[in-house]
Amino acid sequence: NEELLLKFMSRLPPAPAHSRLIIQSSVATMSASKLVQFGTQHVAKGIGRLLPEVIESGAGSYVTMEGGRKYLDFTCGIGVTNLGHCHPAVTKAAQAQVGKLVHGQVNIAFQKPYLELIEAMKPIMPDPSLDTFFFWNSGSEAVEAAVKLARHATKKQNIIVMQGSYHGRTMGTMAMTRSKTIYGENYAPLMPGVFSVPFPYCAQCSISKHSDGKFSFSNCCQDPVLQLELLLKRETAPSDTAAIIIEPVLGEGGYVPPPPGYFDAVRKICDKNNILLICDEVQCGYGRTGKMFAVEHYGVRPDILVMAKGIANGFPLSAIASRKELMDMQKPGSMGGTYGGNAVACAAGVAVLDAFKKESILDNVNARGAELRKILTDAQKDSKTSKIVHDVRGLGLMLALECQPDHNYASKIQTKCIEKGMLLLTTSIYDTLRFIPALNISKEDMAKGCQIIKEAIEEVAAES
Ligand code: PLP
Repeated sequence: NEELLLKFMSRLPPAPAHSRLIIQSSVATMSASKLVQFGTQHVAKGIGRLLPEVIESGAGSYVTMEGGRKYLDFTCGIGVTNLGHCHPAVTKAAQAQVGKLVHGQVNIAFQKPYLELIEAMKPIMPDPSLDTFFFWNSGSEAVEAAVKLARHATKKQNIIVMQGSYHGRTMGTMAMTRSKTIYGENYAPLMPGVFSVPFPYCAQCSISKHSDGKFSFSNCCQDPVLQLELLLKRETAPSDTAAIIIEPVLGEGGYVPPPPGYFDAVRKICDKNNILLICDEVQCGYGRTGKMFAVEHYGVRPDILVMAKGIANGFPLSAIASRKELMDMQKPGSMGGTYGGNAVACAAGVAVLDAFKKESILDNVNARGAELRKILTDAQKDSKTSKIVHDVRGLGLMLALECQPDHNYASKIQTKCIEKGMLLLTTSIYDTLRFIPALNISKEDMAKGCQIIKEAIEEVAAES
């Protein structure tokens, strides 16, 4: 059996390269439980894992595990496979490109899918001034590229981030990520020149909180704006500050859309002080909130837009878009990376935008989002469940349910959903569940998901 085989092979001297194929084929035929055992042994623990299972395949809104268990996926691989797993048109475009050109080094020559993707992206930009593009592989790389661009273009160093933000886990982006302490601890020294201010979060804001513990939404935003102005007076002068980077809907930090007025105020502060506004739409962009970009809900123009995750529906691809005069300041050769803008990923990216048009994705996001939101707000109002719900928020199909603190309600609800056959994630701050189903989820699958969520909330409330 596999266990004996592995034990035996671990005692052998290093095998010549060709015979290592035997180990690979052993993995290919392992049972589900043995695969988990093998993964636990050999995959770095620092990654963390929700389930002791192995994903075998995915189709639309479902994933199937080794062993046959099927889950309704309300995570989309953390907002990546936004058009569902193995979307047929995206798969077809990628397959066609694999047979034509897999990699064309961008510093050597242009390649067609790269240019086609730019042509497709240009009309969806939240502002026509964002007319020049560059592609990488991951969100973190794109965020770092935006910071490089901002520093170079302004000849200033410091970056202001939001408390609760998530921008990645590379050395630079770790310094900018403020949603959970473990992301940065034990890796010092991190990138210097990063300062943070509070993000407007009505559900936890002292101004909107009443003496009975309840809160009301306010449009004031006075405190976070004041804190930003104070930061620019006390800690990082405008003459040293290159950019403010914001997730237009805070992602990992709790799925928090800022109240109206906040973004306008930040834009004004940027304009007044010659500071660039970077919008990190890695998680909230590309249709997730019911508009192509979350910043469109606020009518504000970013100077640099960062995109990743859903832009190629699972192929590693990220991008920044900015004004030509800013982008062209950087010297040829100072930007880039071997795989950035890979031809297959770009071809998939073109198919994604094609599907957005052909399948009226944004209409579906708004219709299904309203159905899901209703289930959550009903739970907030229902006397049986209201005691465990603190807040329901979000836009489109980027929705969150924050539970009352100190009882681990969110992870209890998550566990129940998983038992009932649905994958669901929590966020880093406060006791919050995040709901990120595929943007093209069918009405039937949404109804099924809503039923599971409703039952799970009711059961946790009844047990509390
Ligand atoms: N920015 C935001 C808003 C994110 O949500 C993420 C990842 O979750 C990143 C950046 C980093 O992206 P990646 O994990 O692809 O490096």
